[in-house]
Amino acid sequence: MEQLYRATLDRWGEEAQYDQAVEECAELITALKHFRRGKVDQQVVIDELADVTLMLGQLTWMFGTELVEASVEKKLKKLSRLLESPDQQQEKPEDG
Ligand SMILES: [Mg+2]
Repeated sequence: MEQLYRATLDRWGEEAQYDQAVEECAELITALKHFRRGKVDQQVVIDELADVTLMLGQLTWMFGTELVEASVEKKLKKLSRLLESPDQQQEKPEDG
């Protein structure tokens, strides 16, 4: 994958990767909205999830896989603490 990420970055540049990620996220948002309203089938959502997954891989590689993994680990621990604590049910895990 790293070779593909590097080739993509070399071909289209850094700014294009950010723009593409934003675009793919927007397409996933639209697909989920349409899926919820019964306008598209599951495969549309799956295809958009695949696009976003690829862009997340690209950006994660660009920003540093270890840094992103460390942040994910930190957030998973926070989520786990929230789930264990009944007093924190109203707090959203992605906050902070
Ligand atoms: Mg897409």
